Amino acid sequence: MKEPGFETLCAHFGDDPDRFLGAPVPPIFQNSLFTSPDTEAFLRRGDRRPSGYDYTRVANPTTEVFEQKLAALEKTDLARCFGSGMAAVCAAVLSRVRAGDHVVAVESAYGPTRSFLSDYLARFQIGVTYVPGDDPEQFAAAARPETRLYYLESPSSLVMRLQDVEAVVTLARERNIATVLDNSWATPYFQNPVEFGVDLVVHSATKYLGGHSDVVAGVVMGPEKHMRLLIAQEGVLLGSILDPFAAWLLLRGVRTLGVRMDRHQQSGLAVARFLEAHPKVACVAYPGLESHPQYALARRQMRGCSGLLSFALKDGGFSAARDFVDRLRYFGIAVSWGGFESLAIPLTFPPDAAGQVLAGARISVGLETVEDLLEDLAQALE
Ligand code: PLP
Repeated sequence: MKEPGFETLCAHFGDDPDRFLGAPVPPIFQNSLFTSPDTEAFLRRGDRRPSGYDYTRVANPTTEVFEQKLAALEKTDLARCFGSGMAAVCAAVLSRVRAGDHVVAVESAYGPTRSFLSDYLARFQIGVTYVPGDDPEQFAAAARPETRLYYLESPSSLVMRLQDVEAVVTLARERNIATVLDNSWATPYFQNPVEFGVDLVVHSATKYLGGHSDVVAGVVMGPEKHMRLLIAQEGVLLGSILDPFAAWLLLRGVRTLGVRMDRHQQSGLAVARFLEAHPKVACVAYPGLESHPQYALARRQMRGCSGLLSFALKDGGFSAARDFVDRLRYFGIAVSWGGFESLAIPLTFPPDAAGQVLAGARISVGLETVEDLLEDLAQALE
């Protein structure tokens, strides 16, 4: 029999109704501890899984169903959930570095990730060098003898830049350097970094995996050889676990991941094309557009694109960007992205090659009727 497809995994993988009295939806085990029938079982409780558990900080059946499903979707062995995407990012990084090491990271990575790498890791004399990341050789050139980690975010979530994942992994392996990639933008529906040899994949599950703007969560995934120690140390010891109810909400979110991502892509592309053709728009950052400088790379390493994009206005600077966002009716003004609802924030782009600084907006295209969104964007641009 052929391997089950993505949506079949979303619908069924790991649910195991026989284990839960036939329930097609795994129950929420909202308990901190699990009792043992006798001291013999208590002393051997660590060996009892998956039929026995002892403490929810170590493992919880509801959370575990979600973790197994995600690992299958990401085509890897193990997943470990965390209380936020940042907790997952920090756990993945901490699992790969020691005092005195050096990290090379992509400069367009999520701001708090950069703060953690630059400011927090400095406590342990861990240095970080940022590279634009569009040319893999930048990673080779920045490597030092003590470099232990290449940190990637592809595509990045503000300016939608990509890294050539396969090429960077090849350079990393030649140098015995680990790789961590934030896959929140593409999700496992459009990209599986483990297939290119990335050691650990991280997600802010707050975004598309949850998809309903009702959970803050993170996940780290990878092969067993990297994950076992991470689960025991950054997972169980640092203790930033996901609440079982949040895991249950994520299970529900992920059941529709495939169909939601198809619609995010369809509407995202429609919005990107509309903006690109608008006379007031200078440029659109969306890897699904032929005009994106890394369009060919995007086609090669991803199966599609999500609904998060940015664009710059030709004139008016940041105040025109703010006016545009304030005029929108269907787009909430908020951080985060990847939910059912469309969002927008004003944004100043990094200087371009000519040193010009443009302002515009980042838009998370939601699941509303796309004609309504296009009409709203048109009136706000007038
Ligand atoms: N990674 C990316 C690309 C993000 O955009 C975010 C949050 O916006 C995070 C990680 C952190 O996730 P969380 O907010 O769930 O901690």
